[in-house]
Amino acid sequence: MTETARPTTPKIFCIANQKGGVGKTTTAINLAASLALHGRKVLLVDLDPQGNATMGSGIDKAAQEHNLYHVLLGEASLSQAAIKAPEGGYDVLPSNRELAGAEIDLVTMPERERKLGQAIRSSSTTYDYVLIDCPPTLSLLTLNGLAAANGVIIPMQCEYFALEGLSDLVNTVKRVHRNINPNLNLIGLLRVMFDTRVTLQQQVSKQLEEHFREKVFQTVIPRNVRLAEAPSYGLPGVIYDKSSRGAKAYLEFGTELIQRVENQ
Ligand code: ADP
Ligand code: MG
Repeated sequence: MTETARPTTPKIFCIANQKGGVGKTTTAINLAASLALHGRKVLLVDLDPQGNATMGSGIDKAAQEHNLYHVLLGEASLSQAAIKAPEGGYDVLPSNRELAGAEIDLVTMPERERKLGQAIRSSSTTYDYVLIDCPPTLSLLTLNGLAAANGVIIPMQCEYFALEGLSDLVNTVKRVHRNINPNLNLIGLLRVMFDTRVTLQQQVSKQLEEHFREKVFQTVIPRNVRLAEAPSYGLPGVIYDKSSRGAKAYLEFGTELIQRVENQ
């Protein structure tokens, strides 16, 4: 991976899925750390008022003077609010419950769905990748993420209703593409929390490949307890236990994503 192969404008990707608990935040944190280990400059935007990506990166969500809320409302710049993840090698635009209020505070503002994109574009730091950890709803916050991004990465569990939920999300992406952000594309689907012993998961995984073909990432993230333990130590799984199966898979995913988006 040479200097010249690096992207010149930031790749801005939403990690999105309308369901909760499907591995969005775990994917966002570990992908951020993985891309940083590959030498890329990364910003992780915590777009979920729960602040899990913030805490899971080792940052106290209650102790920051500025956070994403202030950036969206124009009360702080991105570089004032972004801070270094202590061990992750990437920067975080942190959030906490205050962010839920932004939904209401933004309602009367012009271009209210473009605030995040404007903040990222006017950032004084040049990032190779901006990863946006989305909340599990199609809210004004998520819309800010989709309006700012040029790609969507969908982590998903291979369960019975997964495909049904997926078509809603793909339609949402198409609608945003048509009406708000013509640069938005589906980058790919990432199978997470995968258990090869479960026949149903294998079947759904196969259906996914048949239906979405090259949009399905080759890397599959296994269900791995080390990935679930890592956030309580404020560490990405790829740093908490880099020899675990989960960590290896996320590192591999970083490599696959770089190949997919930087060699176009
Ligand atoms: P979301 O952001 O979509 O709500 P999370 O990333 O927070 O989902 O994951 C939900 C729960 O599942 C968390 O407790 C997380 O630690 C756990 N988890 C996520 N991915 C894995 C995995 N590959 N193996 C085991 N546990 C996982
Ligand atoms: Mg989450």
